[in-house]
Amino acid sequence: MMRKSVLTGLAMVGLVGLLSGCATSDASSKASSSSSAQTTKTVSKRQKLINALPKGVKSTDADLIVVNKWHKHNELSFSKSTVSGITVRSSIVKPLTAFLNGATKAGYPATLVSGYRSVQYQKEVWAESIETYEGQGKTEKQALKLTKEYVAVPRGSEHQTGLAADIMNTTWFDAHNSQLLSSSDKAKGQQWLIKHAPDYGFVLRFTKTGTKSTGIDYESWHFRYVGKKSAAFMTKHNLTLEQYVSLLKSREAAKK
Ligand SMILES: [Zn+2]
Repeated sequence: MMRKSVLTGLAMVGLVGLLSGCATSDASSKASSSSSAQTTKTVSKRQKLINALPKGVKSTDADLIVVNKWHKHNELSFSKSTVSGITVRSSIVKPLTAFLNGATKAGYPATLVSGYRSVQYQKEVWAESIETYEGQGKTEKQALKLTKEYVAVPRGSEHQTGLAADIMNTTWFDAHNSQLLSSSDKAKGQQWLIKHAPDYGFVLRFTKTGTKSTGIDYESWHFRYVGKKSAAFMTKHNLTLEQYVSLLKSREAAKK
């Protein structure tokens, strides 16, 4: 029993290692594919996932754009609309509204806290944070380090895609001074949002197990629209968007 669970654990670690990271992970996994039986086993696991990927989904689909600290983007161009006074990409108005209505119907009204944020806005928040820390007597280096911990790098925040939504259970949010805290997942209403997001094409983007791959700590409130097919697959296999897109790219490369 003991031995089996240790081995399973090792295989899991290997799988996570192969899946994590972005563009470079494919090349490194291929290069080491024959180095040991362990690696061969995990490669076949990856291949199984690739074989099971939903049909008709491509890594280049607009809904699957990856923006993070390693994949920065300049301001993107898309049509915008508002939901509950918050600006989002027009294409997600329907699913987002359905998601929020679903929460209300289930008895857990939710607050849409944030949606689209421009690159310019991120730049301002970034500069403001550095200025504040320097004003508190921190050195330039310290101010930069502290800012990096709490503020998304300009051009590296997913909010610029208009496909991200910070959503909080209203009762919990109001009781905690409108703060975005990961402990909100203790609230039943937040648990409902996390569990049912895929039904509406959303995923919880920054999971506890995905921090290495996303570069962002666990956030129980940040949802990302990826479409129903992708959301179901990512949730079933506990994949971050980075890992999922890497699998899609492998499938596309094999077809060429
Ligand atoms: Zn967010």
